Amino acid sequence: MKDRFIAALQQNNLAEMRKVPKADLHNHSTRGGNKRYIEKWCGTKIPDCPKFRDLHEMNQWNAINLKRLLPGRPGYEKRIEAAFEQAKMDGVHLLHMSVTIGEEALFDNSAEKLVYAIQDIHQRVAPEVIFIPEIAFLTYTPIDETSEKLDQFLELNYFKSMDIFGDEFAVPAFKKVFRKAKDKGLILKAHVGEFGTAELVRQAAEVLELDQIQHGIAAASSPQVMKWLSDQQIQLNICPTSNILLSRVENYQTHPIRILYDHGVRVTVNSDDMLIFDQSVSQEFFNLYHAGLFSAEELNEIREDAFAN
Ligand SMILES: [Zn+2]
Repeated sequence: MKDRFIAALQQNNLAEMRKVPKADLHNHSTRGGNKRYIEKWCGTKIPDCPKFRDLHEMNQWNAINLKRLLPGRPGYEKRIEAAFEQAKMDGVHLLHMSVTIGEEALFDNSAEKLVYAIQDIHQRVAPEVIFIPEIAFLTYTPIDETSEKLDQFLELNYFKSMDIFGDEFAVPAFKKVFRKAKDKGLILKAHVGEFGTAELVRQAAEVLELDQIQHGIAAASSPQVMKWLSDQQIQLNICPTSNILLSRVENYQTHPIRILYDHGVRVTVNSDDMLIFDQSVSQEFFNLYHAGLFSAEELNEIREDAFAN
């Protein structure tokens, strides 16, 4: 596969790149699907997203351009279908994809019914994709409420990974919730170092005993934090286009993924929110290659490493 991946990159052949197995370890399911698939279902063109100044602007764009097209349970299920379709089409063999606590409201407030629906869609649309179900929650929900709801999801013994997002600076306070997930053997992740600092990346990883970090790019400003991440073998699941369109990084050429890689930090390349940013894992490999950030061999090593955890 190494030769095939390198040839696809060098020949700028997207169709060939899609045939090479890849992992997507940072995907928000309801925003992670194929745009053309949703456009076809809705009979409406979804505009290209602009460059956002922050998450608030992105959420507003999402509400206007996506949410109103996809209401209720049918809209939700279509989004999940679009995400599995996308993975299948792009040659994503390993998919970590998150369901956010609160989405069970569309399923009579039943975590079980939500899980059945997702299992069914996975089996129907892309059974060949190795799917790691991830439970995610927002920092804005009070800790005790999150903890209680998490119990309902964890007792189904379905989820294998957990993620938290929202206000990065609130993340370390969720230690109690992460202990629970660790006892269950889940992969522990958190969104930090996207808007926050290198020190916050280290603090969150240490306090919550994280295995992987979603984004974490702020760590590139601190050689000490990068050394610590490298020593602890904590992996950063990076989404280059998301970082550019959320104004965290100027362009691919200056993306800090290269600095992180050079300091021995484990990095992977992922999609984040394809319905918004519209760049697949395959396209992200081309983006980094064409920017001259990595050689084809280095990108292949990054691709292969993503299957190691
Ligand atoms: Zn994300």
